[in-house]
Amino acid sequence: MPVVEDAARPSETTGQPDADGPLAFFQAQHDAFVATLRAARGAPNFLDRLWMQAFSSFEHNVEEQTRTLPQLACHKGCGTCCQLLVVATAPEVLMVTRYLRATGEGFRKMGIDLDARLSETAEAPEAARSGSRPMALIRSCPFLVEGICVIYPVRPMACRGHASFNEEACISALKGGSDNVPVSEPHRTVRALVQNALQSALRDEGYPWDLYDLVAALKISLARPDGEAAFAAGEDFLAPALVRHVSREEMASTFDRLKA
Ligand code: SF4
Repeated sequence: MPVVEDAARPSETTGQPDADGPLAFFQAQHDAFVATLRAARGAPNFLDRLWMQAFSSFEHNVEEQTRTLPQLACHKGCGTCCQLLVVATAPEVLMVTRYLRATGEGFRKMGIDLDARLSETAEAPEAARSGSRPMALIRSCPFLVEGICVIYPVRPMACRGHASFNEEACISALKGGSDNVPVSEPHRTVRALVQNALQSALRDEGYPWDLYDLVAALKISLARPDGEAAFAAGEDFLAPALVRHVSREEMASTFDRLKA
């Protein structure tokens, strides 16, 4: 198994969806994450390396896959999709937690109390966590301030992977209209493949590998000063925030099939 640089560009080391097919891309991403998890186990920058790898893989491959696509409708100040359920892996939740701790005081000085915004935001209702209607309105994300994402540098892959070609269709879907929003397939596919490969690698190496409701998970994580160490020790302390769009057993058997 090759040792892959943490932030290595997947096109250079692990293939791309177009070049080798989605299955080969998943397998290469999985192997690269496993290599990083093994190489970085116990290292102080363990989480940073994993997180950087996930996001650089996503960003670079989306860039490669969308060169010939039309202009997206997404723009600063929209935030329409920031009213959907946001799910995230544990490493993503922990990076947002770290960011909130580092920037909270600065935001407070600007009159933005992110802790208060988070605690005032309800956790996702069961209907949203079941995934029956992914475009259903649940509540505004606490990090959307005047139409701008204030955790933009560390926003989860779920946010990065949702990109639309039609703002009106997004607004209509959130108001209960058709879910038929023309979204960017490369964004959606790359996000799914990178996120699933990360989950699969975490599972294989004995780390928590589920998806969590970002809001609920952050409330738990911010109350755990030792959260990063707990995750590194394999403790699934975010479990109360689990999202079960697909059962654990089904996910596990899918990952096993894809790796075979
Ligand atoms: S984290 Fe940022 S991009 Fe994601 S839903 Fe919240 S405000 Fe929107």
